Amino acid sequence: MSSPLIEVVDVHKVYKTGDVEVQALCGVSLAVEPGEFVAIMGASGSGKSTLMNVLGCLDRPTAGRYVLAGREVSHMSKEELAEVRNQVLGFVFQNFNLLTRTSALENVELPLIYRGVRSKDRVRRATAALERVGLAGRFEHTPSQLSGGQQQRVAIARALVGDPKVILADEPTGNLDSKTSRDVMALFQELGQTGMTVVLVTHEADVAEYASRVVVVRDGLIRSDKKQVQRSASEIDLEARSGGML
Ligand code: ADP
Ligand code: MG
Repeated sequence: MSSPLIEVVDVHKVYKTGDVEVQALCGVSLAVEPGEFVAIMGASGSGKSTLMNVLGCLDRPTAGRYVLAGREVSHMSKEELAEVRNQVLGFVFQNFNLLTRTSALENVELPLIYRGVRSKDRVRRATAALERVGLAGRFEHTPSQLSGGQQQRVAIARALVGDPKVILADEPTGNLDSKTSRDVMALFQELGQTGMTVVLVTHEADVAEYASRVVVVRDGLIRSDKKQVQRSASEIDLEARSGGML
């Protein structure tokens, strides 16, 4: 077996607000191998976003270890974390987080600007990323000129453009209707088939069906962790369109 891309060991996260302490993660251990498509499931308040923030190097655990792509990140400074985020991770959010009044192409170029990639290369790579998510012909559109599903595709292109090792997505279909959700999940599944590692948070069981592994979080702990046969996007789509009559 190859070495894990993500390895968290006995991670705890405590939030302090005034005198109140919330134990958001109470000893989570999880290893993700390259190429896995993991869905993290759980009810609201179970600790999913906290775990994603730790995995995404947006927040440091209170205790425990985190090794990402062979690097121990638990004790890194803010600057080092930002660098790791930029090099290793791509993010997709529920509300897309695109710049308004900015074209799809420029939105996708953004991570490359932070990296100091020159304009010509940025345009070439952003163009390729937008084509990869099926948005050729929408380069000059601003977010308000795109549907929700198209906006999320732009966000996925932006996550891909820096050639990350892992895509992290927190409720990426949370603001999409069910048909669009299926299209976006099919895209994640396609990325998984090309070898991309995807870790996705959802509270919807049908969204988790696209993944090859489902991790259930409850009260800051992993309650179950199972590999599954990935259901194909076309199968799920067919079933949904027939109203579950198949
Ligand atoms: P989920 O994403 O599964 O809904 P969260 O990870 O957001 O859950 O939250 C887990 C727990 O931690 C909840 O009880 C929540 O209220 C608490 N929490 C999350 N973020 C913070 C924060 N920044 N400050 C204080 N408490 C927080
Ligand atoms: Mg959440």
